[in-house]
Amino acid sequence: TKYVYTFAEGSREMAALLGGKGAGLAEMTRLGLPVPPGFTVTTEACKVYLATGEEPPELGVEAARALAGLEHAMGRTLGADDDPLLVSVRSGARFSMPGMMDTILDIGLNDDSVAGFAKVTGDERSAWDSYRRLVQMFGHTVMGVDGDLFEEAIAAHRTALGVATDHELATTELVVLVEEFKALIRRETGEDFPQDPAEQLARAVRAVFDSWNGERARVYRHREHIPEDLGTAVNVQAMVFGNLGPDSGTGVAFTRDPATGARGLYGDYLPDAQGEDVVAGVRDALPISEMKQLDPRSYVELGDHMRTLEGHYRDLCDVEFTVERGRLWILQTRVGKRTAEAAFRIAHDLREEGTVTADEALTRVSGAELTRLMFPRFDVKATDAPLAHGIPASPGAAVGAVVFDSAEAVRRAAAGEQVVLVRRETTPDDLPGMIAAQAVLTSRGGKTSHAAVVARGMGKVCVCGAEDLSVDPVARRFSTSSGTVVHEGDTVSVDGTAGTVHLGALPLTASDVGRALESGTGEGALTEAVLGALAHADAVRRLQVRANADTPEDAVRARALGAQGIGLCRTEHMFLGERRALVEAMILARDDTARAQALEALLPLQRADFTAILEAMDGLPVTIRLIDPPLHEFLPDRTELAVRLAQSVHPDPHDRQLLDAVERMHEQNPMLGLRGVRLGLAVPGLMAMQVRAIAEAVVRRVGDGGRPCAEIMIPLVGTVEELRLARAETERVLAEVAAETGTPLDCPIGTMIELPRAALTAARIAEGADFFSFGTNDLTQTTWGLSRDDAEASFFPLYLDKGVFTVSPFESIDQEGVGRLVEMAVAAAHEVDPGLETGVCGEHGGDPASIHFFHRAGLDYVSCSPFRIPAARLEAGRAAL
Ligand code: ADP
Ligand code: MG
Ligand code: MG
Repeated sequence: TKYVYTFAEGSREMAALLGGKGAGLAEMTRLGLPVPPGFTVTTEACKVYLATGEEPPELGVEAARALAGLEHAMGRTLGADDDPLLVSVRSGARFSMPGMMDTILDIGLNDDSVAGFAKVTGDERSAWDSYRRLVQMFGHTVMGVDGDLFEEAIAAHRTALGVATDHELATTELVVLVEEFKALIRRETGEDFPQDPAEQLARAVRAVFDSWNGERARVYRHREHIPEDLGTAVNVQAMVFGNLGPDSGTGVAFTRDPATGARGLYGDYLPDAQGEDVVAGVRDALPISEMKQLDPRSYVELGDHMRTLEGHYRDLCDVEFTVERGRLWILQTRVGKRTAEAAFRIAHDLREEGTVTADEALTRVSGAELTRLMFPRFDVKATDAPLAHGIPASPGAAVGAVVFDSAEAVRRAAAGEQVVLVRRETTPDDLPGMIAAQAVLTSRGGKTSHAAVVARGMGKVCVCGAEDLSVDPVARRFSTSSGTVVHEGDTVSVDGTAGTVHLGALPLTASDVGRALESGTGEGALTEAVLGALAHADAVRRLQVRANADTPEDAVRARALGAQGIGLCRTEHMFLGERRALVEAMILARDDTARAQALEALLPLQRADFTAILEAMDGLPVTIRLIDPPLHEFLPDRTELAVRLAQSVHPDPHDRQLLDAVERMHEQNPMLGLRGVRLGLAVPGLMAMQVRAIAEAVVRRVGDGGRPCAEIMIPLVGTVEELRLARAETERVLAEVAAETGTPLDCPIGTMIELPRAALTAARIAEGADFFSFGTNDLTQTTWGLSRDDAEASFFPLYLDKGVFTVSPFESIDQEGVGRLVEMAVAAAHEVDPGLETGVCGEHGGDPASIHFFHRAGLDYVSCSPFRIPAARLEAGRAAL
């Protein structure tokens, strides 16, 4: 195996081996962009190291050869006393993990080479500043010294001199600092900072390997579902210096605005600084447009390279660059992260520009992003003066209690509170808190600061660089220049779209995209982009999208959002509220007459419900499920009743009766008890009443000139015998109503497949069913043998943590197990009846990964809640590509 590749040897196809960063550096080198030369140690080498605790034996030789090549190309020797070659050691995994892994700059400096470096550059201060950075970074990331100790030492110097930034520390100060840092390392580790450049390099490479298993990296991988065993590559690259005076600098640039998607070069530039400074938000950077005046030549050149990259990758790219004394170097590129808004606009624009096809444009956006755009926004009145303005780094509206550190954010979020994490600036250590928070607010840093980049990646609301805020994490409060003080626990509203923070909870209103989706039209670049993507998805998708809706209002809304029918209309919701008394009467009925009377009273109510829903969905299928849950769910709580009876002097005889019924009907495990088709077969007249209500509703709609398409669905069938009995009863009532009214009724009668036995005997069940609807919620419960409500609250967090699940099987379908049952059942049913319609209802119908699976499994439709329909349409389209 070859463990080391020079940048000239690699390419972007090799990202798995070279990591994202290494592949990008190689590709840019290939394209002839100005990349400082270097080489990449592969992820394979990392894997060997992680598995065995040692580098592969060949690595030493290969790396030495690559280093010699680099020294030759640069005409310098690593860490030589006179004109030293300095290198950076940069991590780079397959998937970008912003700020997760540690990079060490200026390797090769030591007590001697620092002087040589100063002489060559003619800039003593920069040389010592670089050395100071090296000792600090090396001490922290390689030797494990607490980073705060270094920061405190620097802060002490700043305070003593009365200056605000490190930038103002003079050379003499830096020389002293380096000595202090070295002493600090010795004190903390019992070891000296290594002066030998080769040792520095070797240990830095190993530290990058080790950082794969660091806490921050693990948290990030877990959250982003990045596999644990990929390992990271390590890039060793000749250093270039952005800190050699005003004609030097460093920056980050995007080919388009990653927040809005607007066309045109976008980014930050920081004169006289090294790369880390921009990302860390140590000093506030200038908008990149100002580089045009400061260094017009580099600015134009940068623009050219950005165009080259976007054309080559055919997508938004971002770069990290450095200008060393008027010479531009590109240090990194990747296809850039972007907000949901930017994703839609960029995909749309690239398609209009002819860079990508409509199909490709569709692959660039996701249902999750679309859902995010549908979230409501703040309804801000002109009179609501914000507490502070900052940079709108990641859009959306969030309300929460202010917290000042990651741990508190995690604590409160775990207790169910919504929080806003407020920091001066964030570091990778804040990651757990950022995950837990609704929004992140910082007082320092630009659009490319850590807070901004990470929040955007997570789709989390973020306002950064709100300079008017002074954040005091120790006193747990922040204040504004106008004197408002906000304490921990106070509620604020963060508007990531406008870049503002408001005191208190602002009211929310529908987003423009949400509105446009419901009305089918709307103005503005974003709305146009979203509607365009959906139109293409609708054109290519095979899966139909229906809604889970129980009320006429939901049906209307779902239809507006593009539902092609109702896949699940639950009837039990129609038994609640004021109708409870009637349901109680039915349950308590002592004889058939009393029960018939109670059902009689329910009939017109149900009929009215069905009529209204069929009207809202006129011309489209409405799958109505007969009552499913155990009847005692409609009765009061047993304990409450018992207490009420025990405490009253004159007990209500009705309560007594109710308690008897509750006790009689009590089940150890209601989920597996008298429910679904079992209930329909066991309670005389119940099923007949529901079918009659449906049939009469259909007749009414026909009478009113409508085109009702009701489908009757029998829940929780385990054997074809149950379905036969239920079907006979259903057909009997349909025939009755047809005879009474003279209206022919041919409602399809189907069943839910939500028990493993039903899936396993699908071929037999198909003989009695006109359609199948997979109830994957119950199918997941019964296949796994667990109850969702109990499991999610008890051991799911543990299972997710231990990696037994990467995602809850209720959120995304377990393709291997539950999904297998679905595939088997579909195949078996289609052997019997190739035309048998199959669909899925239940939460999985709205989950992107599950939708892709259902497409592959050959289902005809998915059904999901109205709000998720646009996302489901989009994902069904993507699945078909
Ligand atoms: P990250 O993955 O956290 O972005 P990088 O490896 O990109 O880490 O490095 C962090 C910073 O150091 C970046 O801003 C980058 O521009 C800068 N940097 C890395 N290598 C060099 C180099 N050879 N010369 C100058 N700056 C560098
Ligand atoms: Mg970088
Ligand atoms: Mg069910």
